[in-house]
Amino acid sequence: MNRRAFRGEILRVPHDPREAGPEAVRHEVDGLLVVEGGKVLACGAHADLAPRFGDVLVETFEGILVPGFVDAHVHYPQTERIASHGEQLLQWLERHIFPAEQAFADSVHAEAIAAFFLDELLRNGTTSALVFATVHATAVDALFAAALARNMRVTTGKVLMDLGPEGLRDSVAEGRAGTEALIARWRGKGRLGYAVTPRFAVTSSDEQLADAGRLLAEHPDVLMHTHLSENIGEIAAVGERFTEARDYLDVYDRFGLVGPRSVFAHCVHMSDEALARMAEAGAGIAFCPTSNLFLGSGLFDLAHADAHGVRIGIGTDIGAGTSLSVLHTLGEAYKVCQMRGCSLDPFRALYLATQSGANVMGIGDKVGALEPGQEADFVILDPAATPLLARRTRGATLFDRLFALQVLGDDRAVASTYVAGELAHARDA
Ligand SMILES: [Zn+2]
Repeated sequence: MNRRAFRGEILRVPHDPREAGPEAVRHEVDGLLVVEGGKVLACGAHADLAPRFGDVLVETFEGILVPGFVDAHVHYPQTERIASHGEQLLQWLERHIFPAEQAFADSVHAEAIAAFFLDELLRNGTTSALVFATVHATAVDALFAAALARNMRVTTGKVLMDLGPEGLRDSVAEGRAGTEALIARWRGKGRLGYAVTPRFAVTSSDEQLADAGRLLAEHPDVLMHTHLSENIGEIAAVGERFTEARDYLDVYDRFGLVGPRSVFAHCVHMSDEALARMAEAGAGIAFCPTSNLFLGSGLFDLAHADAHGVRIGIGTDIGAGTSLSVLHTLGEAYKVCQMRGCSLDPFRALYLATQSGANVMGIGDKVGALEPGQEADFVILDPAATPLLARRTRGATLFDRLFALQVLGDDRAVASTYVAGELAHARDA
């Protein structure tokens, strides 16, 4: 098989630095990444690996090679509604988002946005993503086809919302039939995955939430992807409807939607009981700092979630989020943590955006840290991408260069993106 190697500075964080300490960080100033058949054959110091792989074609690079970023929560149909002014969550959905999502009944529109969206992910160094589509099968088909064409690791699903507005409403039967058909159509193709996707508690009837729980149980290879405790107004609406539930998480729990394959976006306002239950169930959180700031939803409490041992990924949450760049999103995550009185370490941040996000998505054995046997999705970052970055990072420690990339970097700092060992984006091409 076609064996190739990449030589230069390599950084990856296979384990949580909070638990594993400095041992979690794997850094080689002169490293070698050996790729064969789209997978990592070896990754380590060039001096150690060169004798074994002396005959392999080697490409040298400038910059820092890191694993491809994992975006654990993003809405592709909202791409064109990013930067919509002036509302909080429920009003923002009504005014800006629901009208935009109605257009995804048209497959030509869905295909155009899916292609643009995935190219933007690659330009930002994101190689895996857990993506909201719309209620329409056309929206899911368009994204799966575009991801398959790019060989990207994308998980998505038809949104279930039988209490949604006109034009975005399915029925329990349509929700089930649409979900079943899409799973059957795309299962096992490329690097795609399916997620049962109720929009959130108030947009589905009790019957549909219960059916979502059954779909999740019937298909052990799919995820469950939804929103939880994002915004005060939303939480109040949930409380008014589900008076018997202990809290918002308990609404989902009663319908069998809280387990190790469940990913909940936001989780800004969480009790100790709810976080303990999430940890016990093995469910994951997508921390979406730019979105939470943009909609004024609140400040995610990472230390609180950590205290309970909940699994965390990073989400850009476009269109409420303000950038598709995971690097930029980590800079905002740092600020949100500062407001909560804790300081997010840049290596931990990189872990959350790579291996930890992959773990949340249930693909941690396949991508996240460029370990031997994992797929070779990676990004080459340019710490001198802008004059300010160049000045800040010149002669700086790895810690400072990585942190500067998170605070000052975005798509401009992504020199190139590789998917399964193949060049998928080059900034300067
Ligand atoms: Zn969202």
